[in-house]
Parts: sequence; C-alpha cells; structure tokens
Amino acid sequence: MTPGAAAAQGQPGDDAHAVTAQALDEVVAATDLRHLDEVRARYLGRGDGLLTVLKRRVGGMTDPAARAQLGKTLNELSTRVEEALAERQAALSAAVESQRRQSEVVDLTRPAPPLRRGYLHPTTRCARDIRRIFAHLGYTAVGGPEVEYDRYNFTLVNMPPGHPSRDTQATFYIDDVRLLRTHTSPVQIRSMVALGVPLKVIVPGKAYRRDYDATHFPMFHQVEGLCVDRDITVADLKGTLEFFARSMFGPERAIRLRPHHFRFTEPSLEVDVSCMVCGGDGCRTCKGSGWIEILGSGMVHPDVLRNGGVDPDRFTGFAFGMGIERIAQLAYGIEDGRLLYENDLRFIRQM
Ligand SMILES: [Zn+2]
Repeated sequence: MTPGAAAAQGQPGDDAHAVTAQALDEVVAATDLRHLDEVRARYLGRGDGLLTVLKRRVGGMTDPAARAQLGKTLNELSTRVEEALAERQAALSAAVESQRRQSEVVDLTRPAPPLRRGYLHPTTRCARDIRRIFAHLGYTAVGGPEVEYDRYNFTLVNMPPGHPSRDTQATFYIDDVRLLRTHTSPVQIRSMVALGVPLKVIVPGKAYRRDYDATHFPMFHQVEGLCVDRDITVADLKGTLEFFARSMFGPERAIRLRPHHFRFTEPSLEVDVSCMVCGGDGCRTCKGSGWIEILGSGMVHPDVLRNGGVDPDRFTGFAFGMGIERIAQLAYGIEDGRLLYENDLRFIRQM
C-alpha cells in the first residue's frame, strides 16, 4: 500500500511518519531542480499534497487533545520536509552553477586572436597629406573654434550684417552672436591677431552648413591657407598652389587660374588642375574639359588685413581654401562622396 492510499484510508496519525519518510527519500533522490519541484508538489502541494491532505483530515477529528497533538506532529513533519527541500535545492543550484562556470572557463594561456590593423579614414589621410605638403613650404597648421562668433565668421572677412553673400552659406545659428562656423576663414583673422605678420598658416578643420544632398553635407572639412608678408604677389600664390597640385595629384599636373569673386580676396581666382584621369584630353571626371576645379583663392582684401591688425600698405598676402573631401575624392579616385560618411569598413580597408 502506498503512503498516499494509507493516508486516505487509515487514521491520520498512522501514516504521517511513513509519508514523511517517503518524502525525505524522494527529496534526496531528486537529481535536478525540476524533479525536486515535482516532489514538493506531491507532498506539500496546496490542494492535494499528501501531507496537506493529512493536515486537513486532522481538522475533522473529534477529540480536541488528540487533534492538537497530531496537528503539532504534522507541522513538525512538514517543516522537516520543507527544510530537506531547501537544502537539496541549494545543492542542486550550486551544481548547476559550477557546471556553468566549468563550461565557460577562460584559458589565460591561449594565444590572443590576431588584432585587426586599423586604417586612417581617407578624409584624415588627405588632411595629413595636405599638411605635410604645406609644411615643406614652411606653413604651420593652426586651429580655431568651431562655435564661432558671427563677427569672425562673416563681418571681419568682409561679409557685413545684411550683406547678400551671407545667404549663400546656410548657417546654423547658436544665438544672435554665435554660430557653427561656415568656413575656416575666421581663423585667418584669429591667426593674424594672435601671431602677427609675417605669417604662413594652414587651417585644416570642420565647417558646417545647412546643406544635405548627394554632394553637400551639413559637416565637412576645409583647409584654409594664409600667407602674409612684404611684397607677396599673385606669382607667389600661383607658385605655391602649383607646388601643392603637383605634390597632391602628380608631377605632370598643370594648373590654371580663372578670375572669380570672393568677398575676402581681391583679385579672386579659382584654381583648376589638369585632369588626373585623362591628362587633359577630356573625360567623364572633367566633364570633357580637361580641367577640374580644386580650390578658391586670391590676394587678401586690404580690409581683411586691417581687420586682422595688419597694415595693407606695408604687407600683402594671399589666401586659399579647399574642401578636403573633394581633394580626397580626386586624389584617391572616390566617385561617390557619400562613401566618406557612411562608415563602411569595407570601403575604408579598400582605400
Ligand atoms: Zn578628364
């Protein structure tokens, strides 16, 4: 006869000890946590656990003394079973945990997986190339704030408030007097004021405009260049930019200057380089013309020199500015400029 059947038929006290002994045996025999839960339900389950049923039957006994005595005994026996369950559960949990630790052991003597070599982003590489080229000519690289005063970004480089030339540079304003610089030109003023003349600086850095399409990005990189000294002429500008174009795009490159208009230079000149793809015969890259525009330049406007604290009667200078992304595209043959911003590692490795 099973203890359960005995509990159902005989007096409650007869079987309590037998049921408990059976429960304790099963607790010890449980080999995993799920099995242990089944044992708990079989003996202590709220509805039909064997010890629960016995307790319920004690409630129906007529002799109050016997009822109290047996109730006390049954409570003690239930507690023993509960304690045994808790102990076994702790042991089984510890075993599971230890097994988990063994399976994910860290072997410190194993050789490390090989590190992947990193690569410079083409924009970074191009900026370094430009710096290196101008360093040969004695230019110092300087920086300036990206959150700039309207005054430095526009007014002091000859774009006074209300002037229509400001509209061509869709600007991120911070407040009435500050903005994200739309070009690196404000550093021309800052450099003249801080360093004095004679002066030869290049300014690689970020600029911001509210543009976003296939060829324009809200953040882009420029390099500004400024040379101020006595007797600087257009010939110096031309020689400098020719040296740059040949160092960057190959010794067989030629440049040509075209008249243009910028507010902060007079005269202003756009600089083209002979096409590095077709050598000047005409192709898709140069749109059949044999020439590719690479930068804007000119002789520094006397007012800009004055705004930098320089006397235009004693000093002259030239300035130039170029987009690093554009130079990188031309120098490394990147057809789609968006690749420079998509952070696709395959593209960067391929470079
Ligand atoms: Zn071409």
